[in-house]
Amino acid sequence: MSQCLSECSVDHVVLERGEIANSWKHERWDSLKLLTPNWQSRLPGYCYNGDEPDGYMAMPELISFIEKYARQISAPVKLETRVTSVSIGGGKYQVATTQGNWQCDSLVVASGACNQAQIPTVAEAAPASIKMITPIDYRNPEQLPQGGVMVVGASATGLQLAEEIHRSGRPVTLTIGEHVRLPRTYRGKDILWWMDALGILDERYDEIDDIVRGRNIPSPQLVGSRERDSLDLNRLTALGVKLRGRLAGFNDGKAQFSGSLRNVCALADLKMLRLLNTIDEWVTDNQHLARVDPPQRYDDTEVESSPPLLMDLTKNNINTILWATGYSADYSWLDIPVLDRKGKIRHDGGVVDSPGMYLMGVTLLRRRKSSYIHGAVDDARDLSAHLVAYLESKAETVQA
Ligand SMILES: Cc1cc2nc3c(=O)[nH]c(=O)nc-3n(C[C@H](O)[C@H](O)[C@H](O)COP(=O)(O)OP(=O)(O)OC[C@H]3O[C@@H](n4cnc5c(N)ncnc54)[C@H](O)[C@@H]3O)c2cc1C
Repeated sequence: MSQCLSECSVDHVVLERGEIANSWKHERWDSLKLLTPNWQSRLPGYCYNGDEPDGYMAMPELISFIEKYARQISAPVKLETRVTSVSIGGGKYQVATTQGNWQCDSLVVASGACNQAQIPTVAEAAPASIKMITPIDYRNPEQLPQGGVMVVGASATGLQLAEEIHRSGRPVTLTIGEHVRLPRTYRGKDILWWMDALGILDERYDEIDDIVRGRNIPSPQLVGSRERDSLDLNRLTALGVKLRGRLAGFNDGKAQFSGSLRNVCALADLKMLRLLNTIDEWVTDNQHLARVDPPQRYDDTEVESSPPLLMDLTKNNINTILWATGYSADYSWLDIPVLDRKGKIRHDGGVVDSPGMYLMGVTLLRRRKSSYIHGAVDDARDLSAHLVAYLESKAETVQA
């Protein structure tokens, strides 16, 4: 957004509570690699130009990618400047920070969608003796006590951490709700290449029938690795990870699981198959566009015929619970009535319900790709144009 505002000669400042690339430096685990391929990492006027376009950046590379961008665009960033409140007064946004106050006509909230871990209320009933941890605080398995670990949540974060922790010698039980299964590559190309080529990632928020549901779809089960392997539940079963249904609660030292495991897995298999069929149809219609491998199909997810609905945590030596149950944004500093019942900012494609205020970087903000790094390119272009028009109309009103 800063680059787009500079291109339009809009005087602006970027307030950052920590360092550049702060969330990637301080809120991610050690082994994390992006699940988006390098060629997809782009920002306005900037893209990956290394030797491994099909590889996946580890955190140090990503941090340096973002730092270089900030230098290249001379972003006017004020570091170590935490915004502590934003209110409206005298027709302007009044921004209080740990380094003084600012006033502005327009405000872009780009404070991230993943500032805090979402922990379900059932956690309150978990036995006090068990260590609880979230992906924001998790760095590596050595942090965890020896013994078993229950990982709650089977999207990208849950699967990646379940595998890493299990390989460290701490037996993992994974509890699974609705999830999105995807192969890493299909017909010789990255699955995100296909989603890009088919225009799926460009689908707009106002073209989607059920936007509330669309904005709550879990992240796909993908991992970035040198081998470009798929990370799915069958791979975890082969390693020895135990699969259980969605965590429903705790009672008398026992975890209770929903009986929906077979159904949620069958649904994820079906949805993956539908996507592969769509890709195959696209290939048939666009043979001149891409030279690709023949179609493939994958085994259905293997699930025990009657997965247990209860697990005695002590008997199974479960000493840790890792809540991989999603993330949420922290808007505790926002003193403007723009939040809905769930604490999310009300907006129409990033245009917030308060004149001159904009939102960036949240799921399906304007397009399916909005929550990805490269999603910022189109979103920032659209929203900066709206912002410039707003400032011009405000200036005209003042002159009149
Ligand atoms: C585990 C994980 C893996 C991911 N993997 C991928 C991936 O592979 N590919 C991909 O494209 N996307 C991935 N994402 C999504 C990715 O986080 C977003 O695409 C991207 O970070 C959004 O950038 P952002 O600038 O909007 O938010 P952030 O990167 O979160 O930046 C927000 C910034 O605002 C600052 N801030 C917050 N509150 C305040 C305040 N009150 N005052 C001042 N500053 C504040 C924060 O310190 C932070 O630096 C992943 C997300 C997570 C959580």
